Amino acid sequence: MDERGLQQLDPEVYGAIRSEIGRERDSLVMIASENYASRAVIEAQANVMTNKYAEGYPGVRYYGGCDYVDEVERLAVDRARKLFGAKYANVQPHSGSQANMAVYLSFLKPGDLIMGMDLRHGGHLSHGSPVNFSGTVFNSISYGLDPKTQRIDYDQVRDLAKKRKPRIIIAGASAYPRLIDFHRFKEIAQEIGCYLMADIAHIAGLVAVGLHPTPVGVADFVTSTTHKTLRGPRGGIILSEKKYENKLDKGVFPGIQGGPLMHIIAAKAVAFGEALSPGFLDYQKQVVTNAGVLAGELMGSGFDLVSGGTDNHLILIDLTRRKITGQEAETALGRVGVVVNKNSIPFDKKGPKVTSGLRLGTPALTTREMKEKEMRIIAGLIKRVLEDPNNESVLMDAREVVSDLCQTFPIYQYLDKER
Ligand code: PLP
Repeated sequence: MDERGLQQLDPEVYGAIRSEIGRERDSLVMIASENYASRAVIEAQANVMTNKYAEGYPGVRYYGGCDYVDEVERLAVDRARKLFGAKYANVQPHSGSQANMAVYLSFLKPGDLIMGMDLRHGGHLSHGSPVNFSGTVFNSISYGLDPKTQRIDYDQVRDLAKKRKPRIIIAGASAYPRLIDFHRFKEIAQEIGCYLMADIAHIAGLVAVGLHPTPVGVADFVTSTTHKTLRGPRGGIILSEKKYENKLDKGVFPGIQGGPLMHIIAAKAVAFGEALSPGFLDYQKQVVTNAGVLAGELMGSGFDLVSGGTDNHLILIDLTRRKITGQEAETALGRVGVVVNKNSIPFDKKGPKVTSGLRLGTPALTTREMKEKEMRIIAGLIKRVLEDPNNESVLMDAREVVSDLCQTFPIYQYLDKER
């Protein structure tokens, strides 16, 4: 076997990875769904377990030689259950979308009606969007936000659910800055006799430490990604009560997946272990504090925020009254090293490629240990760039601020040493 390392064997891929390290290190990552996984998580996922086929579950596999992958999957499951206080955890879904797919296909039939939050109001593609399997395999309807409060209108959810009788209601979002009342959703689901699935992909880290009310023990199924606020490797999980174990296990394998990604499951185990450590609560508290400070500063500078603020890790700026679109704002900030994404806002008149909104998140900056002071600096920088996006001296000054912050709050020092 050729045992040369990546740098020698494949300089092109090696070069692209080095460039990505530099990009992540030298920019302010403010995409709400991104984070920096720890060295231990990254080490765990880059391991020989990628070689191993392990269809099935620990102790009941369809392949020999599974002793050690069984060990890591058991660790991942036990830690996930402990972290979220769940009776059952499945750590095999390759992604958040696949966790959702496994739940739907385990309990619904093609053509059944599902009901999630409108994508344009902050929902996710896999909650019934017509361009996603969830909206083509199933019929779907969506609830939106109240036009005045820009928060979930639970009465509208209830009325729609009573009228249309979906088989499942999905509570969860990709761009919703407020707390979600899972108990209200459960009451509605119970009233019409349907399932409730909570998708906590974005808020999983906050839920794990009790900074967001948990849907575990409330919703029938809880799905999540592991790579956002939870700060693990890219992947998905499903949590539920014991009574759904058999159906969910079969729904994931053989239902929608073959062999699990055992190297990723090893990294999930590490991430859950990190999330169980006391420092994780402090981290999540700071994530929320930082988002609050950023929101306050931006509003103080005259920016409109969807729902007038935030309760969690993200902010949605409404640019409608400004002379800049979401797309232009994303590009302008990108030019100074602030990485964000354009995002539709509720009742957006512009299409998803342009948008009137900008989504900002604090999980990655907080991993770099930035705090309130830095959020004020960054809010000022965002204001200056968005108000004068073509002014070269503003952009140059902003680039310097970004560079100073990145140097003061370093990341990936261990990778620099390896070079
Ligand atoms: N659910 C929600 C609420 C999300 O925000 C996302 C990703 O952004 C997903 C599911 C899907 O996760 P993945 O990209 O891993 O498929």
